[in-house]
Amino acid sequence: MRTLFTICLFLASSVFERVATAQALGDGPSVLVVTAHPDDEIMFAATMYRITHALGGTVDIALMTDGAGGYRFSTLSESIYGRELTDPDVARNYLPAIRKRELMAGGAIAGIRNFYFLEQPDLGKTEDQDSILAYVWDSEFAAGRLDHLLAQGEYDFVFTHLPIKPFHSHHKAATILAIEAVSRMPFGNRPVILGSFTSGGLDDAVAAYRELEGHPATKIYLDGPFVFDRSTPLGLDGRLNYNIIANWMIAEYKSQGTMQLFMGNEGVERFWVYEMNGRDAVGKTDALMEQVRTAPF
Ligand SMILES: [Zn+2]
Repeated sequence: MRTLFTICLFLASSVFERVATAQALGDGPSVLVVTAHPDDEIMFAATMYRITHALGGTVDIALMTDGAGGYRFSTLSESIYGRELTDPDVARNYLPAIRKRELMAGGAIAGIRNFYFLEQPDLGKTEDQDSILAYVWDSEFAAGRLDHLLAQGEYDFVFTHLPIKPFHSHHKAATILAIEAVSRMPFGNRPVILGSFTSGGLDDAVAAYRELEGHPATKIYLDGPFVFDRSTPLGLDGRLNYNIIANWMIAEYKSQGTMQLFMGNEGVERFWVYEMNGRDAVGKTDALMEQVRTAPF
């Protein structure tokens, strides 16, 4: 019994020490991630991990859709979850909760603190973001939620998908709503909002990106990209690297079959600064990513 008591005391004190250490580091950057679907946040996996684990920062996520549309490649997870998830009717009932659990399990690995679900319909697989904003999502509701989160959160940075044209409309719509919400805040008291894309997919469209047609607030500065390379070594003899974090997060998404095919892909997480932030944001972003690359772990 005494041994058990000693073990409990040891565990309690080590937990306490970790909390105390985290509090000491607690003045790191605070970030709000705004994404469309559960699993989109994996594009920032290593950067989020570095912010929460090496910089003493915080990361919250605002997820725009309910995730019900991600059923087409759920085949291998049907036996895990005991549901015929590739059936759209079954998916509509069960997939939103399953994908929230997957998001929260992966988010725990990256150190995500708060998960905010905006529950917009995961419908309309199109490239036309304007029809999503006008007819599929309750944009007024989503805008109000983002305004509230931004006002409460006192964030330093907001991470979004870079809204390249040849891409799912939801990603672009989520980014537009986030940029508009930041734009409604008083200038000088706003977080810096960034667009991101991991290397290794749609590289030509990303390289050519300047702004999304019809949405001038999505225009980026040509500085950058500001990057974190997931192959940055860590651990004994530098034999580990941050691709492991992305792979662990991907592994949590059992219901997302094609996402699993990205397992093992190496990548560089890249960030661009929207011009609506103002020029100061370039230096702030450069400084953040320098810290993300170099802070001791
Ligand atoms: Zn997505």
